[in-house]
Amino acid sequence: MTDTPQYGFDTLQVHAGSRPDPATGARQTPIYQTTAYVFRDAEHAAALFNLQEVGFIYSRLTNPTVAVLQERMATLEGGAGAVCCSSGHGAQIMALFPLMAPGCNVVVSTRLYGGTVTQFSHTIRRFGWSAKFVDFDDTDAVRDAIDDDTRAIFCESIANPGGYITDLDAISAIADNAGLPLIVDNTSATPYLCRPIEHGATLVVHSLTKFLTGNGTVTGGVVVDSGKFDWSASGKFPSLSEPEPAYHGLTFHETFGPLAFTFHGIAVGLRDLGMTLNPQAAHYTLLGIETLSLRMQKHVENAEKIASWLEKHDAVSAVTYAGLPSSPWHDRVARICPKGAGGLFTVTLKGGYDSCVKLVDSLELFSHVANLGDTRSLIIHSASTTHRQLTPEQQKAAGAAPDVVRISIGIEDADDLIRDLDQGLAKSAPAAAA
Ligand SMILES: *Cc1c(COP(=O)(O)O)cnc(C)c1O
Repeated sequence: MTDTPQYGFDTLQVHAGSRPDPATGARQTPIYQTTAYVFRDAEHAAALFNLQEVGFIYSRLTNPTVAVLQERMATLEGGAGAVCCSSGHGAQIMALFPLMAPGCNVVVSTRLYGGTVTQFSHTIRRFGWSAKFVDFDDTDAVRDAIDDDTRAIFCESIANPGGYITDLDAISAIADNAGLPLIVDNTSATPYLCRPIEHGATLVVHSLTKFLTGNGTVTGGVVVDSGKFDWSASGKFPSLSEPEPAYHGLTFHETFGPLAFTFHGIAVGLRDLGMTLNPQAAHYTLLGIETLSLRMQKHVENAEKIASWLEKHDAVSAVTYAGLPSSPWHDRVARICPKGAGGLFTVTLKGGYDSCVKLVDSLELFSHVANLGDTRSLIIHSASTTHRQLTPEQQKAAGAAPDVVRISIGIEDADDLIRDLDQGLAKSAPAAAA
């Protein structure tokens, strides 16, 4: 065997996990549009069902196209394994499911995607779980929030709706001290800009829907496991460290070591929760990831240009983009996301709520949609849409106050985007209403 070369990110985003199709030689990963897979014989079937042999049984659990995407994501994040699922929100439940039990809590950042704030404040309570929301810049408060029933710590690397970067090194040190896994939602950054596992994250979750697929065609999610957490150390994670009755008393951590979380995610999580990614969606996402670095470079270059232009505009009172020297979190860029602060930020308009709504309605190139991370530039007034279910305090904490619009900068010509914003801002200024 020759040594495997240490390939760079741009090579891995094209090649990791995929090889020419053994049956046909097809160079692009085929869409294996099949529900089931023929067993060699009865013994083979039994071995697969007992998890004694790894292979394909039924596409709710595993599928060859999805498996390529799982391997590619694990490689790009520097993890041991990955489980794809049907959405980013599905990924969050799939990440928490093996860790939590009724009465358990997760300590989470206040700076999160609005949908996640809702999922964590309301929906997970139906499972008997709860979330404690804390300002993650206040490390004492994070430490104080942890109690005997805490099973995980959760934050976003670059937080949606943009402008905030979590000090992952500081938070992972707290998680380590408490013997808890740190889960990082890396959706807004992607592994090209930020690699949370290098900063101590245990699990990385993504909405594949956003920059990874990158063109607004897919809903999908993934959980990547670093493979580094000792699930047996504390007795707090019995799903992984104790015998599983549904698999004849098999113990995941003992049997699968660093792949315990991944195998549990497939063999129990996907089997019983059924939040499976379909092979067509995996195919689109694989195509998207092939150009991830090129797109992210352009997203960042455009965002930097447009954010500095907006910051100087008369109608604008603030631009929260961590890539701007004026940002209080600018000094975290070099350490946490050295290739740039992403393509997402918020703009506060002097004209308040009314100007925000008018701007959204006046733009021609920007699309008014509830999405981000598209090749196209997108805008949304979070307070009246994605963050609508939140209290005013939660909106403000999440960076989605009523006088704020969220912008996801695409890969078009920056000058065209600036011209569009200029005409939109002229129409939305309070004086223009008269
Ligand atoms: C969109 C998003 C999610 C949810 O992902 P879906 O694919 O829409 O379920 C989670 N976290 C962040 C940061 C997001 O932007």
